Amino acid sequence: MTRPACRGMDPEIFFPISHAGPAGIRETEQAKAVCRACPILAGCLAEVVADPPEFGVWAATTPEERRRIRTRSALVKAA
Ligand code: SF4
Repeated sequence: MTRPACRGMDPEIFFPISHAGPAGIRETEQAKAVCRACPILAGCLAEVVADPPEFGVWAATTPEERRRIRTRSALVKAA
Protein backbone atom coordinates (compact mmCIF):
# COMPACT_ATOMS: atom_id res chain seq x y z
CA MET A 1 0.00 0.00 0.00
CA THR A 2 1.29 3.47 -0.90
CA ARG A 3 2.05 5.67 2.04
CA PRO A 4 1.23 9.42 1.89
CA ALA A 5 4.30 11.57 2.48
CA CYS A 6 2.48 13.49 5.22
CA ARG A 7 1.61 10.43 7.28
CA GLY A 8 3.21 10.67 10.69
CA MET A 9 4.36 14.25 10.16
CA ASP A 10 3.47 17.12 12.45
CA PRO A 11 0.22 18.49 10.90
CA GLU A 12 1.26 22.01 11.89
CA ILE A 13 3.64 21.97 8.93
CA PHE A 14 0.64 22.04 6.58
CA PHE A 15 -1.12 24.90 8.35
CA PRO A 16 1.09 27.98 8.21
CA ILE A 17 -0.43 31.03 9.87
CA SER A 18 -0.29 32.80 6.52
CA HIS A 19 0.58 32.03 2.90
CA ALA A 20 1.91 35.57 2.42
CA GLY A 21 4.97 37.42 3.64
CA PRO A 22 8.46 35.97 3.82
CA ALA A 23 7.75 33.54 6.68
CA GLY A 24 4.37 32.48 5.32
CA ILE A 25 5.74 31.88 1.84
CA ARG A 26 8.70 29.92 3.23
CA GLU A 27 6.47 27.74 5.42
CA THR A 28 3.98 27.20 2.60
CA GLU A 29 6.78 26.14 0.26
CA GLN A 30 8.10 23.70 2.87
CA ALA A 31 4.68 22.05 3.06
CA LYS A 32 4.35 22.02 -0.72
CA ALA A 33 7.75 20.33 -1.00
CA VAL A 34 6.46 17.44 1.10
CA CYS A 35 3.42 17.12 -1.18
CA ARG A 36 5.49 17.28 -4.37
CA ALA A 37 7.42 14.22 -3.17
CA CYS A 38 4.24 12.38 -2.23
CA PRO A 39 3.44 9.21 -4.21
CA ILE A 40 -0.30 9.93 -4.10
CA LEU A 41 -0.15 13.62 -5.04
CA ALA A 42 -2.37 13.23 -8.13
CA GLY A 43 -5.11 11.42 -6.24
CA CYS A 44 -4.89 13.85 -3.34
CA LEU A 45 -5.18 16.80 -5.73
CA ALA A 46 -8.29 15.33 -7.37
CA GLU A 47 -9.90 14.96 -3.93
CA VAL A 48 -9.07 18.43 -2.66
CA VAL A 49 -10.26 20.06 -5.87
CA ALA A 50 -13.54 18.13 -5.71
CA ASP A 51 -14.06 18.90 -2.01
CA PRO A 52 -11.64 21.68 -1.06
CA PRO A 53 -10.50 22.02 2.52
CA GLU A 54 -10.89 25.61 3.67
CA PHE A 55 -7.47 25.87 5.30
CA GLY A 56 -3.98 24.57 4.91
CA VAL A 57 -1.72 23.16 2.25
CA TRP A 58 -3.11 20.03 0.63
CA ALA A 59 -1.75 18.41 -2.52
CA ALA A 60 0.77 21.23 -2.85
CA THR A 61 -1.98 23.85 -3.09
CA THR A 62 -3.11 26.71 -0.89
CA PRO A 63 -6.81 27.51 -0.39
CA GLU A 64 -6.55 30.31 -2.98
CA GLU A 65 -4.91 28.00 -5.50
CA ARG A 66 -7.65 25.40 -4.97
CA ARG A 67 -10.28 28.07 -5.60
CA ARG A 68 -8.56 29.08 -8.84
CA ILE A 69 -8.31 25.46 -10.02
CA ARG A 70 -12.02 24.94 -9.32
CA THR A 71 -12.94 28.12 -11.16
CA ARG A 72 -10.87 27.12 -14.18
CA SER A 73 -12.37 23.61 -14.15
CA ALA A 74 -15.88 25.06 -14.04
CA LEU A 75 -15.11 27.40 -16.93
CA VAL A 76 -13.70 24.56 -19.03
CA LYS A 77 -16.77 22.41 -18.35
CA ALA A 78 -19.07 25.31 -19.30
CA ALA A 79 -17.23 26.02 -22.57
S1 SF4 B 1 -0.21 15.28 -1.49
FE1 SF4 B 1 -1.86 14.95 -0.01
S2 SF4 B 1 -1.42 12.98 0.92
FE2 SF4 B 1 0.45 13.68 -0.09
S3 SF4 B 1 1.65 14.76 1.44
FE3 SF4 B 1 0.37 16.29 0.42
S4 SF4 B 1 -1.51 16.45 1.64
FE4 SF4 B 1 -0.46 14.52 2.23
